[in-house]
Order: sequence, then C-alpha cells, then structure tokens
Amino acid sequence: MKELRGISVSPGIVVGKAFLYVDERPQIPHYPIATLQIDWEVARFKRARDRAVSEVESLKSQTVDNMGSDGKRFLDVHLLMLADPEFGAQVEGKIRQEPTNAEWAMYEVVGAMVEQLETSEDQYLRERAIDIHDVARRILNHLLEREKVSLADLSEEVVLVTHNLLPSDTLLMNKHMVRAIAMDGGAKTSHTAILARSFEIPAVLGLSDITRNVRSGEEIIVDGNAGTVIVDPDARTRDRYLRLSREWRKRWAHLLALNKLPAETRDGKLIRLKANIEVPEETEAALAHGADGIGLYRSEFLFLKPGDFPSEQAQYEAYSRVIDAMKGAPVTIRTLDLGGDKILPDLPLHGEKNPILGWRAVRFCLSEVDLFKVQLRALLRSSTHGDLRIMFPMISGVEELDRVLGVLEQAKEELRRKGIGFNEEMPVGIMIEIPSAALTADILARRVDFFSIGTNDLIQYTIAVDRGNERIAYLYEPFHPGVLRLIKIIIEHAHAASIPVSMCGEMAGDPLATVILLGLGLDTFSMSATRIPEVKEIIRAVTMSEAVAMVDSIMEMNSYADVDRHVQEWMNGRFNLSPRA
Ligand code: PEP
Ligand code: MG
Repeated sequence: MKELRGISVSPGIVVGKAFLYVDERPQIPHYPIATLQIDWEVARFKRARDRAVSEVESLKSQTVDNMGSDGKRFLDVHLLMLADPEFGAQVEGKIRQEPTNAEWAMYEVVGAMVEQLETSEDQYLRERAIDIHDVARRILNHLLEREKVSLADLSEEVVLVTHNLLPSDTLLMNKHMVRAIAMDGGAKTSHTAILARSFEIPAVLGLSDITRNVRSGEEIIVDGNAGTVIVDPDARTRDRYLRLSREWRKRWAHLLALNKLPAETRDGKLIRLKANIEVPEETEAALAHGADGIGLYRSEFLFLKPGDFPSEQAQYEAYSRVIDAMKGAPVTIRTLDLGGDKILPDLPLHGEKNPILGWRAVRFCLSEVDLFKVQLRALLRSSTHGDLRIMFPMISGVEELDRVLGVLEQAKEELRRKGIGFNEEMPVGIMIEIPSAALTADILARRVDFFSIGTNDLIQYTIAVDRGNERIAYLYEPFHPGVLRLIKIIIEHAHAASIPVSMCGEMAGDPLATVILLGLGLDTFSMSATRIPEVKEIIRAVTMSEAVAMVDSIMEMNSYADVDRHVQEWMNGRFNLSPRA
C-alpha cells in the first residue's frame, strides 16, 4: 500500500481500478526530400492541417451537448492555432529550407514553441504548451494517416492515471467510464481541474509521480476531498474508503437536490450564497451548484502571465464573459490583488523582503495608476452587461480608500469624455481583510456600498500567522476569539450604516462556521461552488434565534478550542457532515 498527496481539485471519493494512460510519443519520421518534391510536401502538410480543422469543427458541432461550453471554447482555441498563419509559414519555411518531410518540419517548429512555453514560470503559459501538443498530434495523425488512440473508447469504469491530459483527451474521454482522475501534473486552475469540476469527476492533481507508482488494473483510491491517492490499499483501508465513498455519494445526491431551493432559515431569513471563481470558465460550475451569483472573481488570475498585462479590450471581454454567463445574477469582481503570494516573474514585486506586508493589491495599483485605470475602465465598460459590482482588496484605512475612489472617478470621467457608456450606479465595495479596516469599519462603511470580509488574510494579519506556512498552521484558527470579535465589529458597523456584508474567505464555505456567521448577521456567503450545497443545507435547517443563541454562548468563551468543541458537539447532534477520511 502506498499513499501519495496531491492537490484536491474536485471532490468525491472513489475506489476503483487504475487505467494508466501514458500517451505514446509517436516516432516522428525524418527523411530528406528532393527539391522537386518540396511543393508536394508543403501541400501534404496543408492537407493534413485542413483535415485537422474539419475534425475539430465536426467535433465542435457533433458533441457540444456532451462537452458543455468549456469544451467548445478549448476547441475554438485549437481552431485558432490551426489557422495561425505564422505557424503554417514556419513549417513551410522549414520544409523548403532543409528540405525535409512535413512531419519532421512540423515537430521542429512545435518543439521550439513548446520548449519556450514549458520552461516558463507561468502556469497559464505552461498549459498552453499542452494545447500546441494536442494540435500537433492531430495534424500528425493525418500526415501518418493513422487512427487516433482515444479515451473515448473506454468501455469499463476506471480511475484514470496519467501524466498530463491534453484538453482534447479530457473533452473526448468517455466520462461515464472515468470515475476519478489522478495526475502527475496540474494545479487548481489547469484545464483538467476545471473540466473535472464541471463534470463532477473526483480528481487529485499535482501528484508528481503517480504514473510511476501504479500499473493498469491495480486497485487505487482517489480521495478528492482530502487530496490523497492510495495505491494497492490493504483490506481495512479499502473497506473504510468504500464506506466513505458510499456515504459521500448518498450525501452528495441529497445535497444537489437542494440546488433549486433558496438558502432560507427555518424562520424565513434569506441568505445569498455565491461562488468564488478564478477563471471565467468556472461560472458553469457556479450555476450548476445553485450559486446566487459570483461573490468574488479574483481578477489577478488574468494577469498571472509574463509579458504585457492584458489590454483593456481583453479584460473587458473576460469580465463581460463572466457577467453574460451569469445571466443577470450579480457578479462581484475584485480589482487586481497582485503581490503577497501572487507574484509575477516579470514584475518588481518579485523579491520583496516581506511580501505579505508589502507592496501588494491596491498599494501596487496606486503606484501604477495608469495600469489600474486600464482595469477600472474595462470593468466600467463591462458593467452594462449585467449586475456588476466591483470591490477593492487590502484596504487598510480611509486615506487609501479615498485615493482608490479618486482613481475610479478619473476612470469614469475618461469614459464620459469619450461618450462610452457604463453603469453610473455600479455598486462599489471593499474587502475587509486588515484589522485596521475592521476596527474602522464604521468610517469606511459611510463611503462604500458593501463590505466583503476576506478571512484568509484577516486571520493571517490578526493572529500574525503566515497563511502559507505549514509549520505554524495550527495557529491559523478562524474561531480565535480575536477573529470572531473582529467579524462581529465589521458586521455591526456595516449594518449600522445600512450596507450589506458578504464574506468571501474560506471560512464562508466551512460548514462548522455557518451557524456562527448566520448568528453574527452575515448577509452573503461566497465560497468555492462545490461547498454551496452543504452550507445551504445547514442554513435551511436552523432558525435565526438558534444561530443568535450560538453566537451569544461562543462570544463568552476564552479560547478557540472551547469554541471549536462547542460547535462540533452542536453540529454533530444535528447534521451528518460530509465524511472525511
Ligand atoms: C481573503 O483574503 O479572504 C480572500 C478572499 O482573498 P485572497 O484569498 O485572494 O487573498
Ligand atoms: Mg485576501
């Protein structure tokens, strides 16, 4: 028995048989060609490319239902690559220069492109290398006139174990037969992660060397809740996970049945449950899990690529896409929160002595006002697409807020001067994630339309505990009385000023915190989409007076351990929370 830890990207627990899918690297034929043959060889390449285009187009039209719109978009990216004149010209140039056969020329060109992308520090660009491989493999299949080996042919249920799936593999695979995915590569925002979440296939990625630790047919457990994979489990472990898996499936079916129901307490208080997203594609999962809107779109993920920042138009398109996809439901987009742990290799933000307390978020934007205004104009322009609200991260006090609001006003003025439309009434809020902002929430509340509590940072700054440091993770405690008191202050001040309060830190999606947050008066909870059903179940099962009574008793307690014990006992008596190993 062997246990490996990875990144949990899609929940669920599966015990099954491994299917090792290691895409065989085809032998690329290499032979010189005669000068007379050059035109014919170029034509052969173009023909293979045209066939690849028709293949992708027919895939797009035939199987759209089965893929969802995420799938369609990947195919669009592939069509763009196939149509790229620069790519075609480079391959043709190689065939003519050497002169050599089309397969070799194409792989020389593709190899150089992929090498450049694969060595990039940026995850997004590394993932584009996969798309290029995918497109090249498709053309090669036509050049060699061979049948493509495909995961579409899977005919029995398996746990797919692989090094790195190509987007087309993920789209085409027979999803009824893939019960779980365990992968060497990948991270939370990789294609496979997004698609696994959309298709609700439990998945653990970033396992480094799972493909070297398992053989096809071997028994394997994928725990997408905990981020672990167990190869060749002993009988006791297998039985334990089989039980957990049964419980999980039963519970998940029950939870998903709540999707269409409102998050309303037994005594009629309506709570908004929204989703946090990092990439526009995640809106689909948000809707599928019954989200009332997007409570946090971390816009910096658009910027986490080396080179130039995305243009105003590219940003406008990305924001509008999210707003359009949510079909009128509210969408809260947070302005750039670069810095801290979200750094770019190309920026001077790199190498700060103390990045968590350093030049990040609005501090960075206020010193790069032109760049900040590009984002604000893109946001304002997209506000005509639906119910957009924007919020500023890491506000520490009123001076900083006033400066940020000043830049927003300048961006509005620029658009007005050009006669470009935007929603003049677009709500503007701030994240409360620094203790000084929490303690001056009464002052800040007079200047904005809403608050959103960022507990991930608020806890880090309140307890002085680096949220990314494993060694002191035991101190990172949402139920610390200091944290609970700050949350209480924030909500009270906001309500006194008649503005609503949301929470978009991880605490909002923690079922153990739900009743406390309800009792404290939180209006909106925003979390990763798959957490919504469980939180909704709790909200629908309690009354506000029970929640207020819970808050009254925990606010008297001295330590987080006492609060934790009390909440656990209270919850265990009433709910069957999702099983965890
Ligand atoms: C937070 O700090 O709670 C938050 C939601 O923002 P991020 O995790 O992106 O810092
Ligand atoms: Mg934060």
